Amino acid sequence: MSNDLASRIAEFVRAAGEHGIASVSGADSDRSAYAHSVTGFSVDVGAVVYPESTEQVRVLVRLANDGDISLYPVSIGLNWGYGSRSPSVEHAVVVDLSRMNGIRNADEVSVKNPVLVIEPGVTQQQVFDFLEANHPGLTFNVSGAGTGTSILGNSLERGVGYLGPRREDLFGLEVVTGRGDILRTGFRRLGEESPLAHAHPYGLGPMTDGLFFQGNFGIVTSACFRLFPKRPANVAVSLRLKSDEQLGEFIDLLAELKRDGVLHTVTHLANQARTHSSLFQLVASYFSDRCGFTAEAADAEAALCLNTVVPDKWSSLAGVSGTRASVAANIFEIWRRTRKVAGMKIVSDGMLRIAFAVFDRFRQRQWARFQAAVVSAVLPLHGLAMGRPTDAPIDNLLYKYGALGRLDTERLDESDCGLIFVNPALPLDGRLVEKVVRDIERIASDAGFEVFITLNVEGPTTLVGVINLLFNRSDSEQQRSAQALAAVLLECIHGHGLSLYRSRVDLMPEITREDDPYWQTIYQLKTVFDPNDIISPGRYNLSKRTG
Ligand SMILES: Cc1cc2nc3c(=O)[nH]c(=O)nc-3n(C[C@H](O)[C@H](O)[C@H](O)COP(=O)(O)OP(=O)(O)OC[C@H]3O[C@@H](n4cnc5c(N)ncnc54)[C@H](O)[C@@H]3O)c2cc1C
Repeated sequence: MSNDLASRIAEFVRAAGEHGIASVSGADSDRSAYAHSVTGFSVDVGAVVYPESTEQVRVLVRLANDGDISLYPVSIGLNWGYGSRSPSVEHAVVVDLSRMNGIRNADEVSVKNPVLVIEPGVTQQQVFDFLEANHPGLTFNVSGAGTGTSILGNSLERGVGYLGPRREDLFGLEVVTGRGDILRTGFRRLGEESPLAHAHPYGLGPMTDGLFFQGNFGIVTSACFRLFPKRPANVAVSLRLKSDEQLGEFIDLLAELKRDGVLHTVTHLANQARTHSSLFQLVASYFSDRCGFTAEAADAEAALCLNTVVPDKWSSLAGVSGTRASVAANIFEIWRRTRKVAGMKIVSDGMLRIAFAVFDRFRQRQWARFQAAVVSAVLPLHGLAMGRPTDAPIDNLLYKYGALGRLDTERLDESDCGLIFVNPALPLDGRLVEKVVRDIERIASDAGFEVFITLNVEGPTTLVGVINLLFNRSDSEQQRSAQALAAVLLECIHGHGLSLYRSRVDLMPEITREDDPYWQTIYQLKTVFDPNDIISPGRYNLSKRTG
């Protein structure tokens, strides 16, 4: 960092302090937690500031404009596999919004008014606890990322929850633009007291919300978040593909079920590596905690158990909810349409608990022990369907890299776990998706990597692929190979005429192009909202700034 920039950042931090804004700067090692992430890519971070109100965010934007300093806002910053808290350019000041964690309309929420007005630091666990304590009839769209991840940051990144894409749950944004103005989108522009403010997502005239999803035009300081009534009956439908050869046909069937409204949630179709890795730690824990196995024996037993109980190359999980009669009718329809290609299992909270009690009792026998272990692992994952967030998938990663119990889930970036997502948007076309999947499997296998794939059937025409590469970050050769493989996989995706639906922060120069009229227009919009390009320079946009 140049001396000039260092002194401007020091001045920025000093002035922020005068406004009561806490910070971390200088040689403080806490700052490095923002510089490194599980992707293995690192940037130097100028400082970290922790505003506690919208007004303080405005102060920071004003000071950044005065000092020509780049800001990088994060809600909680657990954007694992995409760059976590690391900024899009070197030496940026991270604006950590986790201390803004209020539910602003807590007293007004009800079954008739199922909308929360949340700040960036509100976590999945916080919303779950709030609803359990105050509105047990309401639930929300929970993601598979941990309990401590944000609602707002994840939705702005266009994350995916169990019920559907999170972008559909968020509206009525309050944004501090790069100019330092406050923009309220939709009908929030009429003021918080307006009966329309938290009810009508679309407002009047052009919808500006979209600019702030995967955008860099401002810092979102609060937003309306949609809740859902709990339905009387909820089951998860697990389908296991009988033959790997029929993957394309199976995807087309799932698409048809989605289009016809038979499957209600996102359908998660996972390859064996992904399914086994999601279950491994909890299965192994069952063997050590309940059956007295040593850690090593528990791991061996878990591998055997998963190969025996879940041998399928591909299996899907989706939810069906409604009245008991409608759920029964939908289950029958799913079975009728898929029975030639897939085996079906129906899972509900109650059934899992009973099954666990029975199998656990007979755990001396291997068969019962295996069933009990798998059921114990499925329970927290199934909780997602009930609106219960879980840390199980993150704990799996900590376990794999020897850090479970030593590091909290929020500190995954400090473990040896290396994780890179390469996530394409795909049309809901079985033949094409199968072709892309086969190419990805082949390329990864040639590079000596196991590839973890989930295909999420999101909507009637859309599917997104979640492709992750795991590696040990303490092994620099492995890290280099994983990063190189990620680059080849991206080429493969582009080669099919496709694109990512969400991108790692270090990858922005690869996904934007200066000679593309689309990105030129996006850059022109930047000059309207953030003329000095101080907010997340180059994030999903072109930029002339280097730091
Ligand atoms: C095992 C595992 C499972 C996962 N499961 C899922 C899953 O089911 N669904 C899913 O979507 N992801 C998943 N993830 C990926 C990721 O961890 C989550 O998306 C997580 O929610 C993102 O972190 P966050 O909520 O703290 O958002 P943040 O990191 O705070 O935000 C994400 C990005 O949005 C921008 N941003 C955030 N807040 C603001 C703001 N207020 N104003 C302007 N810009 C902002 C920033 O660029 C930031 O980097 C998973 C990861 C792992 C390792």
